Amino acid sequence: MKKFDFVVVGGGIFGCYSALYLARKGASVLLLEKENRLFQKASLVNQARLHSGYHYPRSVATAALSDEHKQRFTTEHKAFVNDHFEKFYAIDRFGSLTDALQFERFCDYLNIRCERVSAHPLFNFHRLEALYRTEEHSFDPVKLGEYYSTQVNASSAISLSLQSSIIHARPQGNAWAMQIQQQGGVVTEVESPVVINATYAALNGVNRVFQLPELAVTHEISEIAMLRSAAFADKGLTVMDGPFGSIMPFGLSGWLSLSSVAYTHHKISYEALPRFECQTADVPDCRPEAPGICTECPNRPVSSAPKMLAQMQQYFSDQVQFDHLFSWFTIKTKLKASHIDDGRPTEISKLSNRPDYYCLFSGKINSIYEIEKML
Ligand SMILES: Cc1cc2nc3c(=O)[nH]c(=O)nc-3n(C[C@H](O)[C@H](O)[C@H](O)COP(=O)(O)OP(=O)(O)OC[C@H]3O[C@@H](n4cnc5c(N)ncnc54)[C@H](O)[C@@H]3O)c2cc1C
Repeated sequence: MKKFDFVVVGGGIFGCYSALYLARKGASVLLLEKENRLFQKASLVNQARLHSGYHYPRSVATAALSDEHKQRFTTEHKAFVNDHFEKFYAIDRFGSLTDALQFERFCDYLNIRCERVSAHPLFNFHRLEALYRTEEHSFDPVKLGEYYSTQVNASSAISLSLQSSIIHARPQGNAWAMQIQQQGGVVTEVESPVVINATYAALNGVNRVFQLPELAVTHEISEIAMLRSAAFADKGLTVMDGPFGSIMPFGLSGWLSLSSVAYTHHKISYEALPRFECQTADVPDCRPEAPGICTECPNRPVSSAPKMLAQMQQYFSDQVQFDHLFSWFTIKTKLKASHIDDGRPTEISKLSNRPDYYCLFSGKINSIYEIEKML
């Protein structure tokens, strides 16, 4: 039976950051990842928005928290942040859940830049009630993944086990005794006084193995479409707030990421586990208890990029055209409570004491530092 100070389950940014943080404090950490490489799910397939608060006019708490961590995240990940593009926010003239006055008061309250633009050749003001020049950056998920993989591999205090999942766990005194299944069905036994579940879409599946309570969440198979545009390079637009969308630089890649509230989400599962009808027998690597990599799945949805583009195109003048390059898919998990205010809190629940068990649910990338408050 191998012993570790901590077992961290999940090799996205939250699991990697937790493992590195603990290792730097002198702890021995076992980091388990179901796939054959790190950073393949939500930490890779997202809109790469380094949230400054603008996105949450209906959740001041989420907005304030975004701003709290933005500066530190930017400083510590400087090489992977794109801070040299022009970012606009706009309010649709029709059917928005916020209006210009509300948005201006909200930005004023948060003390974030919001300058009204009354004319601009790239935008269609017949559709826009208001357009604002703001300050928002994006991070590069591909480069972040490379960086965290290198850091994890270089740490002598972290034992990384890929293609591994916990199949059985029980308390044994003040520690968890666990069986870990690795590639080829090999089962090993490990023991640790603390387990951290950072598996995002799979968090309830892992909680079940430990017979611990589940979080009330929903799951959506989501698409991020990548675009290129000559006229709109180095610029971003987010139209608020309701069934609208966003086009903005995907970190330093040279691509623009596109998402729209109406079409990004293909299928929704309201169950505790992400159960979808595409999880058929021919994709054994994807089950509700442990979902797979949607982009690589033969059953992934047909792209909605043409519909998303048609929707977003209405906000631009005729001189702005976009080409769809490709799309990535993943499961987006949301707390059911977020439905009320569209907030994206990061929730850390301690579900067991001695042995300890923490369940991390992350609302956005730059809230990784919340982990430090907990540990
Ligand atoms: C479509 C979309 C758009 C988003 N846009 C933004 C944005 O613009 N800005 C922002 O800040 N945030 C955004 N987010 C949120 C952000 O991406 C997530 O909060 C964050 O990436 C979650 O990181 P994580 O490490 O918790 O999860 P993940 O990156 O999903 O990592 C979880 C890991 O756990 C592994 N795993 C699962 N089950 C097991 C198991 N049983 N055993 C071992 N390993 C397992 C998975 O394979 C995966 O590697 C977005 C999310 C989505 C889905």
